[in-house]
Amino acid sequence: MDNCIFCKIINKEIPSEFIHEDNEIIAFNDINPAAKHHVLIVPKKHIPTINDLNESEEDELLVGKMTVIARNIAKERELSGYRLQFNVGRSAGQIIFHIHLHLTSDG
Ligand code: AMP
Ligand code: ZN
Repeated sequence: MDNCIFCKIINKEIPSEFIHEDNEIIAFNDINPAAKHHVLIVPKKHIPTINDLNESEEDELLVGKMTVIARNIAKERELSGYRLQFNVGRSAGQIIFHIHLHLTSDG
């Protein structure tokens, strides 16, 4: 999607260090971390918000896979606890309109 910063990161038009990459999902550090660990888990498919998810097996599996990848990153880092968050809509603080799961933890 033109003018989407996360699509540009996915397409490597903006350099970023990937923590995870597979055919459907990438993960990278948040540029403005709100905790010691702040990772964004992002699908390669451009979906503006959680409200735009299709009730299709494809989208349901995609969001499930994002959660499993977040869990794997938390496990690799041996985090004792962590938070997973989707901000949905401007009034909830969403500023990038390409869905992403925040993984935050202080360790
Ligand atoms: P949200 O408020 O849920 O839309 O979250 C967007 C997040 O993306 C914020 O925490 C930003 O700090 C982060 N962010 C914005 N631009 C970049 C970037 N170029 N690389 C990494 N994280 C970014
Ligand atoms: Zn996008």
